[in-house]
Amino acid sequence: MASGNRVDLDGNPIKPITICMIGAGGFIGSHLCEKLMAETPHKVLALDVYNDKIKHLLEPDSLPWADRIQFHRLNIKNDSRLESLIRMADLTINLAAICTPADYNTRPLDTIYSNFIDAIPVVKYCSGNNKRLIHFSTCEVYGKTIGSFLPKDSPLRQDPAYYVLSEDSSPCIFGPIEKQRWSYACAKQLIERLIYAEGAENGLDFTIVRPFNWIGPRMDFIPGIDGPSEGVPRVLACFSNNLLRHEPLKLVDGGQSQRTFIYIKDAIEAVLLMIENPARANGHIFNVGNPNNEVTVKQLAEMMTEVYAKVTGEPSLEKPTIDVSSEEFYGVGYDDSDKRIPDMTIINKQLGWNPKTSLWDLLESTLTYQHRTYAEAIKQATAKPAAS
Ligand code: NAD
Ligand code: UDP
Repeated sequence: MASGNRVDLDGNPIKPITICMIGAGGFIGSHLCEKLMAETPHKVLALDVYNDKIKHLLEPDSLPWADRIQFHRLNIKNDSRLESLIRMADLTINLAAICTPADYNTRPLDTIYSNFIDAIPVVKYCSGNNKRLIHFSTCEVYGKTIGSFLPKDSPLRQDPAYYVLSEDSSPCIFGPIEKQRWSYACAKQLIERLIYAEGAENGLDFTIVRPFNWIGPRMDFIPGIDGPSEGVPRVLACFSNNLLRHEPLKLVDGGQSQRTFIYIKDAIEAVLLMIENPARANGHIFNVGNPNNEVTVKQLAEMMTEVYAKVTGEPSLEKPTIDVSSEEFYGVGYDDSDKRIPDMTIINKQLGWNPKTSLWDLLESTLTYQHRTYAEAIKQATAKPAAS
């Protein structure tokens, strides 16, 4: 653990604080807890309904940080302990959410409740008790780019003014209500507006984070191994599952949508800077992504296939991808963001942060982890039962 002589970006000593982390048992939460335990003196009250992804930080009791992390199994929908836990902490970080696209159009009510209604008490308790809040929103609040509405052959589509997503100037462009995909983005947008208004009217100290496709080990689940067989996780886990099972990777509507992927460990560095530099982070909305790692989903599938063959030594399939319609894959009401390039001006100016890891490198370490963690379990799950 780092000693007490750590300093913030302005050279002031960093005092140890207590953080109430809601959704600490998820993908981002697990990496943030790991970082806070290994490199800082801060304490974490870790709240979640699950703790499988942070078990290695909680047990055994002899771990060097054992007295700095405490797990509280609770559902924030209906647990009266929430306010007292927020009151015990200096800072609350809210990560809790339903955030897998397969749920947005198939479970829109749960999606809206989780991302808006259930987050309201957290905002209210922080505001009412004068506690700082870091709230996790999403890059999906931008929706579609302005450029996506231009004719396909318009040269303006190449102009960054029509696609770069900027916190303080880009509009939020969603599809019609019957495209229930946008239930998540819309709920996240409204909670952002509520937090912003609490800041403006009641003086809430807040920071809003908009993650742009953070990926890495422990993201989501592998269907039929550590999650439901019929479950549809986010694209990294979908493609990992296909590779582990030697199946072609499914390209939704041809895989033409574009994304920028950032390594979880780079992104966590940005969150730590926000935690430890409140004067620079409060009142801001931050894009956190890697504009240099842009690919189409098809290119991602091709690169993952190549990287997986390299890390396992196994040959790739002759036909490594297949096309599937979005209706077949996600059901009625799916829609997609066309392109997501984060403007990095604000985070650069306020926190001096930049992502480091290339897409190839992050896929190499992530797929090495996926293979080591799941290959044997998949082999056993798919092995034919011995003839009796
Ligand atoms: P995740 O699903 O792995 O983690 C969310 C955690 O919240 C889970 O462990 C879940 O059990 C917990 N949770 C949900 N509802 C809860 C409740 N009612 N009570 C207690 N715990 C509850 O997702 P993640 O990728 O770690 O995302 C964290 C946050 O970041 C979310 O708000 C998500 O919308 C946002 N985000 C993430 C990404 C990304 O790239 N990973 C992109 C955009 C936005
Ligand atoms: N996608 C795909 N095949 C899959 C899973 C996802 O082609 O097996 C596509 C999906 O349609 C979207 C992109 O990959 O265009 C990213 O999906 P993800 O689940 O990561 O969520 P999003 O970035 O849309 O929030």
